[in-house]
Amino acid sequence: MGEVQRNLIGGVWREAKESSENRNPSDISDLIGLYARGGAQDVSDAADAAQAAADGWACDTPQARADLLDRVATSITACEDELARALAREEGKVLPEALSEVRRAAQVFRYFSGEALRLSGDALASVRAGVDVEVTREPLGVVGIITPWNFPIAIPAWKIAPALAYGNCVVFKPSEQTPGSAHLLAEIIHTAGCPAGVFNLVMGRGSIVGEAMAADVRIKGISFTGSVPVGRQLAAACAASMKKLQMEMGGKNPMIVMDDADLGTAVSACLNGAYFQTGQRCTASSRLIVQSGIHDAFVDALARQMQALKVGHALEEGMQIGPVASANQLKGNLSYVALAAEEGCEVLGGEQLNRDTEGNFQAPALFLNSSNDMRSAREEIFGPCASVIRVDGFDEAVALANDTPFGLSSGICTTNLRFAREFRRRSAAGMVMVNLPTAGVDYHVPFGGRKGSSFGAREQGSYAAEFYTSVKTAYVYVG
Ligand code: NAD
Repeated sequence: MGEVQRNLIGGVWREAKESSENRNPSDISDLIGLYARGGAQDVSDAADAAQAAADGWACDTPQARADLLDRVATSITACEDELARALAREEGKVLPEALSEVRRAAQVFRYFSGEALRLSGDALASVRAGVDVEVTREPLGVVGIITPWNFPIAIPAWKIAPALAYGNCVVFKPSEQTPGSAHLLAEIIHTAGCPAGVFNLVMGRGSIVGEAMAADVRIKGISFTGSVPVGRQLAAACAASMKKLQMEMGGKNPMIVMDDADLGTAVSACLNGAYFQTGQRCTASSRLIVQSGIHDAFVDALARQMQALKVGHALEEGMQIGPVASANQLKGNLSYVALAAEEGCEVLGGEQLNRDTEGNFQAPALFLNSSNDMRSAREEIFGPCASVIRVDGFDEAVALANDTPFGLSSGICTTNLRFAREFRRRSAAGMVMVNLPTAGVDYHVPFGGRKGSSFGAREQGSYAAEFYTSVKTAYVYVG
């Protein structure tokens, strides 16, 4: 079984009082390892170390920060196969998906290596004679980063890289379900020469480590990705210590398929958007809003391709859909499959599957004849399940697409330029896709949503500076 993997605090690998098991969701007899489970004191020590390092890091040159991030990117690329296998083993996404995620993490570090050199400000003439005004951006100081299990290396990368690029020190708490990928990333950052205290890893439970981070006054901002209920709790806790907060949360993303859509394009966008990565993407297409003229042909083709997807062990060659990430998540998914049937849907697939190993395997599911007021069509399932809602026309489709408490991503498949243009304008989502899956985004442009899906500044691209810096306006009387 080996030793317990430790937290990184102040540049030192430190044991915690407790540890937790990490198991492979494709084969629960496969124990990946034991990982430290930190407590409130570990958070306090990490915040201390980060605070002590903050001035030095903020005053270091942008070149030093760019070089560190570039070395991290290079190290990720150098061991991408090993990282991808570890990620697939721990989280359960199939190996090609895991490899793309690892490559994305390297791209993000490389991108922010450049951004470290590009942070700019403004110089303006004052309304008063003899005065100059200068607007600059400064780091927040110590930031907390709290991440979910579904992208255990890419999401930490797109938070840690801008935090460091803009001169902040970091206390990072990964999901307790995926400490392995986080630990490997922390090893890479440490080995790349990150100064002691600038980057700290505290693994452990959300209710202990996460809450201690929210309460710690030395942590000036928290970037969180996770579920809406936890986000709400975190926001309340952060208000007490007046922290800056950025939150990316759930989705129930609509994909409209118009009668004039290219059938092949629509089916492939929905197959990808709904089921790839086992449907465990905040941007997954979980409501397929389909116009009546194309409905039957679309459902036939999508159902055929969905049923042909190969579901199995994430590390087995040729598999297209890995296991559900945890037994708990699988239980929740199965209860939504049962609920959809109770609500009157015709359910295709969705059953638990047996494979050679004992894992959390589930057949992808389609809920036919769904309606937008059913719970199965309104609540985020976060599994390989999609509802099909039939509509008569464009206006009805847009109204249903927007009728949701979420607003992360949305899509439309159409060959009509007017529909494409109108939908981009009227969609109440932060990201809109035309003839593309609702999931799958670039790393150099803003990522985020509206309504219950997001709170605070956008992530990624140059927009990331909004959260990770604080604006200062300086007035100088020059006579
Ligand atoms: P979660 O909310 O259960 O946990 C997210 C993180 O918060 C974990 O690290 C957890 O330990 C921590 N946490 C739990 N309780 C806490 C508390 N009281 N205080 C502080 N931190 C606490 O989410 P999850 O199950 O890990 O991930 C799935 C969810 O994440 C889904 O809702 C999904 O839509 C969302 N997600 C959103 C995006 C996005 O960018 N919008 C991306 C990926 C996942």
